[in-house]
Amino acid sequence: MKKLEEYVISIPDFPEPGIIFRDITSILQDPDGLKLAIDSLLEMVKDVDFDVVVGAESRGFIFGTPVAYAMGKAFVPARKPGKLPRETVSMEYALEYGTGTIELHRDSIKPGQKVVIIDDLIATGGTVEAIAKLVEELGGEVVKICFVMELAGLKGRDKLQKYDVDSAIIYE
Ligand code: 5GP
Repeated sequence: MKKLEEYVISIPDFPEPGIIFRDITSILQDPDGLKLAIDSLLEMVKDVDFDVVVGAESRGFIFGTPVAYAMGKAFVPARKPGKLPRETVSMEYALEYGTGTIELHRDSIKPGQKVVIIDDLIATGGTVEAIAKLVEELGGEVVKICFVMELAGLKGRDKLQKYDVDSAIIYE
């Protein structure tokens, strides 16, 4: 059986010149790749005491929901602005050029709930740092952060030093 990293297709100069894009659709379109990816995330959380998975739009939804389902936990989407229909809390974060904003429903995390955040990839760490701050603003506790892939050279982990962070594949 192939290793998870062998299912990732890397696309040079996408979406811009100089970027090597790590594509997850090549993992998902193979049943063994999909199983390997979800199983590796489940391995990261199997001994973690938690209540909710928060997944980052949009690829964090794909990986977060099956983990929540398999563990018998709730799933909460962290979405781009204007997508969530009820009252939200939102956080702005820095992008390479400009800023991004991420939102949670205000009632999605109850005070004291333990939260696992899942996304497909950590680059600078800005997206997940903002989500972690929102979870904490709502009174939740971030007990684990899981990624399928990590671009270690961008040092995203530096922003997440106070959290327990795990990645299935690390690109140096
Ligand atoms: P960060 O906030 O850590 O700089 O960026 C992480 C976000 O950008 C993630 O939500 C991720 O989906 C997206 N992202 C950035 N680069 C890549 C990439 O090469 N491949 C994939 N699949 N997503 C990426």
